[in-house]
Amino acid sequence: MIPIAKPLIGEEEKRAVLEVLESGMLAQGPRVQTFEEAFAPYCGVKYAIATSSGTTALHITLLAHGIGPGDEVITTPFTFIASANSILYVGARPIFVDIDYATFNIRPDQIEAAITPRTRAIMPVHLFGLPADMQPIMEIAERYGLIVIEDACQAHGAEYNGKRVGSFGTGCFSFYPTKNITSGEGGMITTNDEYIAEKCRTIRQHGMRRRYYHDELGFNFRMTDVHAAIGLSQLAKLEQFNARRIANARYLSEHLKGVVTPIVPEGRRHVFHQYTIRIPDGRRDMVMEALKERGIGTAVFYPVPTHQQKFYRDLGYDQTLPEAEKAAQEVLSLPVHPGLSSTDLKMIVEAINEVCARV
Ligand SMILES: *Cc1c(COP(=O)(O)O)cnc(C)c1O
Repeated sequence: MIPIAKPLIGEEEKRAVLEVLESGMLAQGPRVQTFEEAFAPYCGVKYAIATSSGTTALHITLLAHGIGPGDEVITTPFTFIASANSILYVGARPIFVDIDYATFNIRPDQIEAAITPRTRAIMPVHLFGLPADMQPIMEIAERYGLIVIEDACQAHGAEYNGKRVGSFGTGCFSFYPTKNITSGEGGMITTNDEYIAEKCRTIRQHGMRRRYYHDELGFNFRMTDVHAAIGLSQLAKLEQFNARRIANARYLSEHLKGVVTPIVPEGRRHVFHQYTIRIPDGRRDMVMEALKERGIGTAVFYPVPTHQQKFYRDLGYDQTLPEAEKAAQEVLSLPVHPGLSSTDLKMIVEAINEVCARV
């Protein structure tokens, strides 16, 4: 079976973890700081704050920006549930606007129509590793005085007009094992704003600036040095991993026939966290099943848009967002990870071309 995702853990990661275990400093310590100090320049920002996950990075970021009950945050319904859930955690309301057919990302022209006096922030998601259309998003944010929180959990190293994601607004990254790099579990917040950076560090550590003096309500959302050691080793390989993902994606797009392959708009660097095709006319699930029989692992990201999830329906969400709903019916992600061999890639192409011609 060719898996849809596979973390590549080498000798460097193993040695780094052993060093931490032998040091006796297991919780947040010097490795976390080194990881932060390496990740910030990678994203082209001044500050990076490591967290226990991408979800807690989003949660802390919303709190640090003072977003809470009565506030609205405009985001996309076509993403992992954590994007919108983080908005609920702080007591604010996610406002969903539809996505673009070609990029799967939030449509800037629909954002403006969703702005109300309660709107505090826009949360674009750089889905599948492709940056959202940041120029119009930043212009709207500027015009209406809104905060921009980038969910960059799938887009480490992606670029928009030569600028890394996570450097437009406050960036949130994940190091879950299927992401472009992993730390086991883990996350990172990126910002150029010293006040926000300090606020994030405080919220991460039980609202504590001075040892055992707590000025505000915080959490334990820290990363451990064990995880940071893995993350640091992975960060050194990120560009090589991304280059492989991009080359694998190019191979797939050049050889696949009869399916809608991903596009990369001018000026964007897509880092292919996922390589996602569309299979219309209700054939997607049959194609998926036939590929499984031929040993090709695929996945549907995401089968249900957030506004249609049971929990959100129970909250009263009942809008129709046609492009997100259509995408949920048609998308299929294929293996594109850096662990694929050229034989794997040939097998994937042959299987899809054969299956799609038949199903
Ligand atoms: C993975 C992911 C998250 C959450 O990250 P975790 O580290 O799993 O908590 C949030 N948003 C998106 C788009 C993701 O893909």
